[in-house]
Amino acid sequence: MLENIVEDVAVNLLRSAVIELPQDVKKAIQLAYQEEKSEAGKTQLKAILDNVELAERTCSPICQDTGVIIFYVKAGAQAKDLDNVEKALQNATKKATMDIPLRPNAIDPFTQKNTGDNTGRFIPFVHWEIVPGDDIEIMVMPKGGGSENVSALGMLNPSEGLAGLKKFVIDAVIKAGPMPCPPTIMGIGVGGGADISMKLAKVALLRPLDQTNPNPDLAKLEQELYKAANMTGIGPMGLGGRFTVLGVKIEYAHRHPASYPAAVVFQCWAARRAAARIHCDGTVEYLTHKVR
Ligand code: SF4
Repeated sequence: MLENIVEDVAVNLLRSAVIELPQDVKKAIQLAYQEEKSEAGKTQLKAILDNVELAERTCSPICQDTGVIIFYVKAGAQAKDLDNVEKALQNATKKATMDIPLRPNAIDPFTQKNTGDNTGRFIPFVHWEIVPGDDIEIMVMPKGGGSENVSALGMLNPSEGLAGLKKFVIDAVIKAGPMPCPPTIMGIGVGGGADISMKLAKVALLRPLDQTNPNPDLAKLEQELYKAANMTGIGPMGLGGRFTVLGVKIEYAHRHPASYPAAVVFQCWAARRAAARIHCDGTVEYLTHKVR
């Protein structure tokens, strides 16, 4: 049954994501360690790499904050039993919380009561995209609170254009300082509306660091913002150095003539994500990790 397959796959994805960073992120941290000139920054990057290695060796989460669980589902229009997927993802989250274990991070904002199993109203949050075919692709992003807390949304002045956007992004980096556990990955969402730009900023974080933006102008802008963010000198864990960010990723939508929404979402060095594809015959292909 699809429900059982989805549940097993989602538990595996959660386990892989919280224990082992994706290859592109690991490589970027290793490269930053080799190139970092600041002694304090280098020490922090070494501690991060040791932590990553220890987590893999002991099958333990790389950070005590295992985040709020977000799933991105690309569902083939011809896939069957899609109405069971959300339930399976809820069950997987509860099971993973017990088994891995994950820190219970789902709190009622009014009663302050923790549900204890990482599920609750709209949590885990499931983003849906309908695509051609009959496969189901699931990506999980356990999103840490420290980096989430410095997210920024700006309704910019359209007349300031690109210059206004660049200023907004770099101001957000400076304001965030050490809070998002740098070196971070910055997701930038532009256009649409306030909610759309925020969503696009987080979606941008799903693109691997070694995948260049297919739009050459945006690829250039990502590089420019990457260099500018690293000129702030905030450095690894905010202790100074060249590596404040590991990468910048931009997504956009067209905008209303009178609005220029822009959003920045930070992903800490513990940039966790894992993905798998479930084929219509029930076979599973893991896309980011070797499943343990
Ligand atoms: S921001 Fe990331 S690295 Fe820092 S405590 Fe939260 S999850 Fe861990």
